[in-house]
Amino acid sequence: MQSWCVAIIDESPDNRADIRSMLLNGCDKRLTFLEAGTAEAGIQMVLGATSLPDCIVLDYDLPEMEAPELLAALAGPDGMPVCPVVVVTGSASPQEGRRVLRAGAQDYIGKDWTTGPALVRALENACESWAMARELHQRKTALQLLNDRETFRSLFLDSTRELGEEQALKRVAARLLGQYLKANRVLYGEADETGTVVVGPSYVSGVQQMAGIYNLHDYGPTLLRRLMSGESIVVSDVQTDSTRSDREKSAYAKLEIVAYLIAPILKNGQLVGVLAIHQTSPRDWSADDISIVREIAQRTWAAVEHARAESSLLAKELQLSQMMEIMPSFSAVLTGPDFVVQLANQSFFDLVGRGSEIIGKPVLEALDEIADQPFPALLEQVYRTGTAFEAKAMIARLARGPGKSLIDIFVDFSFLPLYESDGRISGIFVHGLDRTAEVSANLAVAQGTRELRSVTENTPDLLARYDREFRHVFVNSIVEKITGCPVSGIIGKTNRELDMPRDVCDELEKAIRHVFDHQQHRSLDFSLPTLQGPRHFSCRLVPEFNELRQVASVLSVTHDITERRAYEQQLLEQDLRKNEFLATLAHELRNPLAPIRTGLQLLKRSPQTDAAAHTLPVMERQVGHLVRLIDDLLDISRISSGKIVLKCERVAFQEVAVAAVEASQPFIDAAGHALEIVWPDQPLWLDADPTRLMQIFSNLLTNAAKYSYPGGRITFAAQRDGEHVLISVQDTGMGIPADMLGTVFDVFTQVNRTLDRSQGGLGIGLSLVRTLVQMHGGSVQAASGGIDLGSEFTVILPLASAPAEPQSSVAPVLTTIIASRRILVVDDNVDAAETMVMLLELYGYDTCAAFSGEDCLEKVLWFHPDIVFLDIGLPGMNGHEVAQKLLAHPVTAATKLIALTGWGTEEDVRKSTRAGFHAHLTKPVDPEVVEALLATLLPA
Ligand code: ADP
Repeated sequence: MQSWCVAIIDESPDNRADIRSMLLNGCDKRLTFLEAGTAEAGIQMVLGATSLPDCIVLDYDLPEMEAPELLAALAGPDGMPVCPVVVVTGSASPQEGRRVLRAGAQDYIGKDWTTGPALVRALENACESWAMARELHQRKTALQLLNDRETFRSLFLDSTRELGEEQALKRVAARLLGQYLKANRVLYGEADETGTVVVGPSYVSGVQQMAGIYNLHDYGPTLLRRLMSGESIVVSDVQTDSTRSDREKSAYAKLEIVAYLIAPILKNGQLVGVLAIHQTSPRDWSADDISIVREIAQRTWAAVEHARAESSLLAKELQLSQMMEIMPSFSAVLTGPDFVVQLANQSFFDLVGRGSEIIGKPVLEALDEIADQPFPALLEQVYRTGTAFEAKAMIARLARGPGKSLIDIFVDFSFLPLYESDGRISGIFVHGLDRTAEVSANLAVAQGTRELRSVTENTPDLLARYDREFRHVFVNSIVEKITGCPVSGIIGKTNRELDMPRDVCDELEKAIRHVFDHQQHRSLDFSLPTLQGPRHFSCRLVPEFNELRQVASVLSVTHDITERRAYEQQLLEQDLRKNEFLATLAHELRNPLAPIRTGLQLLKRSPQTDAAAHTLPVMERQVGHLVRLIDDLLDISRISSGKIVLKCERVAFQEVAVAAVEASQPFIDAAGHALEIVWPDQPLWLDADPTRLMQIFSNLLTNAAKYSYPGGRITFAAQRDGEHVLISVQDTGMGIPADMLGTVFDVFTQVNRTLDRSQGGLGIGLSLVRTLVQMHGGSVQAASGGIDLGSEFTVILPLASAPAEPQSSVAPVLTTIIASRRILVVDDNVDAAETMVMLLELYGYDTCAAFSGEDCLEKVLWFHPDIVFLDIGLPGMNGHEVAQKLLAHPVTAATKLIALTGWGTEEDVRKSTRAGFHAHLTKPVDPEVVEALLATLLPA
C-alpha cells in the first residue's frame, strides 16, 4: 500500500484533528501526519524534515502569518513551494483563492463544506499538478539555462572573435564568465606538470587580484594529479571540508576562497593551464556550471593559442620584413599558386622599378613584362616540386616602371619554397642581388682587356712590365720578333738572365730603379743585336701605380728607331750638304762681285761722264745689296752649322746703333722715310759683339725701310728697363697680319711674296736677327696692328753688369798711303786679279798680278813683293800650299801674306792664321778695308 506523509499547519488542534480524520476516512493510502500549530513551526517542520512531506494542508488564517506569506517562505530555489500545498479556509472567498494560488498553492478549498473524499482528491490533484508544475518549471528552468548559456556562448564568441591579443582575450573571457556565473573571481593560470601556476590579471568582484606564481601542492595533495588527468575540481565549501588540513584551509582563506571550480586545460595530454572560478561563500556548482567552465576554458585556450600563433606569425612576418629591409639583397615573399606579392623589400621595389602598389597583386600581373621570360615557368616548377632554384648572372628584362622601355639587368637569385606547418608549399621566397653594375663593369673590363690586348699585340713597339727585381712581369709578342725567344721564356726573367748586353742592362736597371724610387718617367736609347742585325731602340719607362699611389711596376715602351735614326742621319747629311752648297754658292757669288765692286771704286775715282755719275751710285747700292744678301746667306749656313762665334766686348749701344743707322741710311733715304731716333744720352753698356749687334739693328732698320710705303716714318728708340735695354724699331708701313707675327722669325718666311723682289730678300734677315739676339742672351718680338698699320720690332738685351773702362777715344784715321811698296795679287779669276791691281795702283802701290800658284812662285822671285794678296781657292796648288812655299823661301820669308778668299768662316780665318797669313779678307773686299789694312801692314 502506498504511504503518504501529509503535513498539516493549522492553529486549531480541532481543525487539525478534523482534517486528519477526513483524510483517514477518504484515503486508501497509509497515512502519516506531521502537524504544526504556528507558521514558524510549520516552516521549520517542513524544511527541517529529513524528507519532505508529500503534501501540505495549510490553514489560510494562521495568527502570525497568512498563507501567501508562508507559501513564499516554503518556496525552493526555483520559487515553487518545496512540496504541493492545499490551502483550507473558513471564508473561501475567490480573492483569497487567487492569492494563494498565485503564491504557489495547488488548491484552495472551504473548510466547512469539504468532505473526506473531496479533501483526499484535492490533495491527490494537488500532488499531481505540483509534480506537473514542477516538471514544467524544471523544463522551463533548463530551457532558460540553455538559453542563458547560448546567449552567454554567443556573447563570448562575439566578444572574443576579433580579439587577436592574448591578454585582452583572457581578460574579456574572464569578465564574461565571471558575470555569467556571478563569481567573485575568474582567473587563467599557465600551469605545468610540476604544479606551478602563473596567474595574470583576473576578473574580480569584491575580492583582491591574485596575480603571481602559485604552487598547486599548497592547495591539496591530489589537486595536481586530478587536474593532470583532466578532471575538473569542484568544491562547494572548502572551509567545512573535514578532509582538508588547516594549512590548506588557511591557504584558501588567504585568497578569500570558499567555493571553487577549476577546469584543467590540457594540450596533447599535458597540463598547460587552468581556468578557476572562486566564490567567497559556499556554492553548489551545477553540472551546467562545470560544463560551461570546461567549455570556456577550452574555447579561450584555443583562442589564446590562435592569437599566439597569429601574433607569432605576425611577429615572424614583421621580423621577416624587417630583415628583408636591412638585407642588401632584393627579396620578396610570393604566396599561393598565383604568386601574390605578400612582402617585398625596398631593393626589390628598386629592382623592378615599382612601389608598394604591387603588394597583394600576383607577381606576373604586377610585372607583366616577365610573363614571356623564364621566370613564370621557374616559379611554377619550384612551387610544384619544392626544389629550390638558383641562378647566377641571369638576364632579366625589366621595364623599371609601367610604360618604361625594357632594360637588361643581370641578377643572381634564388627561388626558395615556403612551407605551411602541415608541409604544403605555401609560396616562394625570392631573394637575390642585382649584379648589373658588376657584370657591366666586368664586361667593360673584359672589353677593355681585349682592346688592350689588341693594342699590345698589334703595336710595333715592344711593351714590357718590370717588377722591382727587374724581372719581366709582362711582355708583348713583339719580343719574339726581336729576340726569337717566346713570351713564356721571358716572363719571370731579368734582361741579364736573358743575356742582354751588360752595358744595356746596367743602363736599363738604373733607369727602372729611378722610376721606382722617384716616380718619374725615364727615357733612354740603346742598341741591341737582334735577329735582324743590330738595331737602335728608344725606350720610355713609366711608373705604374697601385691604389696607394705607390709604384707597383714599371712599364717600358721600346720603339725601334733604327729607320728613324737613318733618316735623321740622312737629313743631317742633306742639311750639311745644303749648308755647304749655300756656303759654296755665296763664295762663288762673291768672286765675281769682288772685281765689280773694285771696278766701281775705280770708276768713281776716275773722271766720269754724266751717265756714269748717275749710274755709278745705283750700281754701288745694288752691289752693296747683293753683298748683304750673300753675307746673310753665308751667315745662315754658318748658324745652322754652329759656326758663328760672338766676339763680345764692352760696347755702348749708341755707338753700334749709329753704325747700324749709317748702314741702312741709303735704303731709308731712297724711300724718302723720316727716321726719328730716341735714345738716352747716357751710354747703355752692353757686353756684345759690335759687328753682330750692328747687323741686328741694320737688318731691322732696313726691313722698316723696305716694308714701308715711300715717305713713311721710322722710329728707332732705346730705353733702359732695369737690368735690360729695350730697343724698338717702329715703322708706319705695311704691317704684319696677326697670324704671321709668330712665324716672321722663321727662316725663309716672307709675308708678302708678291712684293717687288728688288725690295725683298731671302726671308733670312729676321731669322738671323732672332738667333743673334738670343746668342746675346736677349729676346726679340714683333708687333703690328695689322695690314697697313705699321710694325714694331722690340729687342731686349741684358745690360752689362759694370760700366766700361774709359776707352781710348777715336779709332785711327786710315788715309795715308805709302807709295813705292810692292804688292803681288794672286787670283785665278783674271778679272778679279786685274781690278784689284788697278785699285792698289790707284792707292799708289807698285802692283803686279799672278794667276796661279806656280805663276806666283815665279813672279815673287823677280818682283820681291812686300805684300802678297793670295787667293786660297787656286786651282792646282791652293793658297795654303803657295803660302807655305813662300814663307819657306828666303826671298819671301818676310813678305806679308794676305788671304783673299770667298771663304770667311772663323775656321777659314783660323786656317789662314795657322798657315802664316797676316790677314784674312773675304771677297768681295771693301776697298776701304783694304786701304786700312795696308796702312797697318806697311806703315810709312
Ligand atoms: P726678307 O729678306 O724677306 O726681308 P726677313 O726675314 O727680314 O726676310 O723678313 C721676313 C718677312 O717679314 C719679310 O718678307 C716681310 O714680309 C716681313 N717683315 C719684316 N720686317 C717687316 C716690317 N718692318 N714691316 C712689315 N713686314 C716686315
